Amino acid sequence: MSSTDELIPDGVALPSRRELLRRLGTCALLGAAVAAGGSRARAAAPPASHTATPSTTPSAASQASLLSEEDPAAKAVRYVADAARAKGANPGSTCANCALYQGKYGSREGPCQILPGVQVAAAGWCASWAPQM
Ligand code: SF4
Repeated sequence: MSSTDELIPDGVALPSRRELLRRLGTCALLGAAVAAGGSRARAAAPPASHTATPSTTPSAASQASLLSEEDPAAKAVRYVADAARAKGANPGSTCANCALYQGKYGSREGPCQILPGVQVAAAGWCASWAPQM
């Protein structure tokens, strides 16, 4: 009895050398595919110098520019970056406590559901302000 016979239980068929080589080739292809996928993911990620600071939302949306009050979309909803300057706003209502604000808690700016592609100031306000439920 060889040392291999002691490790393999009775009735277990060993794969042929050809089958082992085929399986190794499959593993090598899978490994290469995984490695290539990881490289693409790293290439798509922003460089460390472009990552958001902890006070902002570190998502792809945070790469969007801050909405200007002069933007036609901002004017359409009477957006102001500082709610203290808003005409008609209920005291204390800001983008940060609006149901349509999508920034993280404590963020200084974040996305708004009605103003796609831009960030709004958490301290801002617009005529579409809605209470959180
Ligand atoms: Fe700010 Fe809400 Fe108006 Fe969006 S809808 S700009 S979050 S007040």
